[in-house]
Amino acid sequence: MIQAYIGLGSNLENPVAQIHQAIETLQSHDSVHAFRVSPIYSSKPVGSQDQPDYINAVATFSTELSPIALLDLLQSIEQAQRRVRERHWELRTLDLDLLLYGAEEIQNPRLTVPHPHMLDRGFVIKPLNDLAPEMGLANGNTVTEQLQQLDTSDLVLIKEE
Ligand code: ATP
Ligand code: MG
Ligand code: MG
Repeated sequence: MIQAYIGLGSNLENPVAQIHQAIETLQSHDSVHAFRVSPIYSSKPVGSQDQPDYINAVATFSTELSPIALLDLLQSIEQAQRRVRERHWELRTLDLDLLLYGAEEIQNPRLTVPHPHMLDRGFVIKPLNDLAPEMGLANGNTVTEQLQQLDTSDLVLIKEE
């Protein structure tokens, strides 16, 4: 079993409901065990600012799924919630990113793990800190140390899970 961390994001079509639905689907999957999820935050979008705020959370669970099987699961949930794949970084109903897969480093055409931008993103590190503050990251920082280096002033706690 591997401990996986997933970043959840949405900024379209009732984003809080999108995140809740994704949480329900993941949590009830046969290969997802000991599921935990962070509080939900809102944040300003990356990219053009003429779009709604993002809603973000991080979930963690243990799983026997391979990294690619887990990516397939995440993408099937994105598709089921009819994600709009129009512009990278912009409007979508649901984005599910594999942040961490145990301590593994993965580089293939479909999958880069740890997620290449996670360390720079307050909307990832803040909820990750709620789940695993002491965990060591690839740059040697704990999650809490990494959080202290980021500006998270645009993040608003909107719901405790
Ligand atoms: P970002 O990766 O900067 O958050 P994004 O989530 O908007 O951007 P997507 O459009 O969701 O990007 O994903 C584009 C491709 O990224 C997917 O087709 C997937 O194969 C690939 N990918 C690479 N690494 C990962 C990962 N760790 N988690 C999810 N998708 C990944
Ligand atoms: Mg993403
Ligand atoms: Mg993605």
